[in-house]
Amino acid sequence: MARVALVTGGSRGIGEAISKALQAEGYTVAATYAGNDEKAAAFTEATGIKTYKWNVADYAASKAGIEQVEADLGPIDVVVANAGITRDAPFHKMTPEQWNEVVDTNLTGVFNTVHPVWPGMRERKFGRVIVISSINGQKGQFAQVNYAATKAGDLGIVKSLAQEGARAGITANAICPGYIATEMVMAIPEKVRDSIVAGIPAGRLGEPEEIARAVVFLASDDAGFINGSTISANGAQFFV
Ligand code: NDP
Repeated sequence: MARVALVTGGSRGIGEAISKALQAEGYTVAATYAGNDEKAAAFTEATGIKTYKWNVADYAASKAGIEQVEADLGPIDVVVANAGITRDAPFHKMTPEQWNEVVDTNLTGVFNTVHPVWPGMRERKFGRVIVISSINGQKGQFAQVNYAATKAGDLGIVKSLAQEGARAGITANAICPGYIATEMVMAIPEKVRDSIVAGIPAGRLGEPEEIARAVVFLASDDAGFINGSTISANGAQFFV
């Protein structure tokens, strides 16, 4: 039987590429989204992948949504916690609302996504947890105290889950993309974006598919001994 994969934020951007790549690999995929019904409907029409709408920041909604996915498609073997947002502002201008929204979505959202599937993975002695973190969680970023904190926190989640899941056949890994050409990055003012690209040794933004292929590998049986790792995919942007 085909393995089942859940991708949060899986109907556009990096998540869309991940959903499609897992489907091409033979997984039965469920893709979630927050509110963009039109895009989700177009995605399902184009791919046949079922979409589910819930807010990852809401534990009860995540748990109920995951139960529905499992009732529809079967137990979830692979969970990709990809949904994420930015609410950028220099620290002196950052509001508690901007802080809380990003923490609730990018950090608590990962707990809310993985926690409901974890007991089933432990019981079945197999699971793959893949969290999409960010280069800015590794190095920090101007005007992203909130975002960088959550993405660094995601690495702590993964390293701890790896230790808890290892004997139960579960791996947990993170991917830290650099700048990838999605709506999130295209929303950055062009002048700022140009200066970002100038700082990438590869001389270009990454493509969502370049992240998706790393997810496919981490989800595979071949990656069973890779656990608690962080894969950087950033076009050679080094940092200390
Ligand atoms: P996009 O903004 O293109 O897409 C975000 C996706 O997440 C959408 O499907 C959106 O749903 C969903 N989403 C957002 N908030 C919630 C929520 N509260 N509940 C459920 N779903 C939600 O983002 P990207 O594809 O660019 O980014 C994907 C991930 O990769 C994020 O975690 C991001 O931080 C990370 N990343 C991105 C980089 C980049 O350069 N793009 C670089 C490094 C990391 P809807 O369509 O309904 O809005």
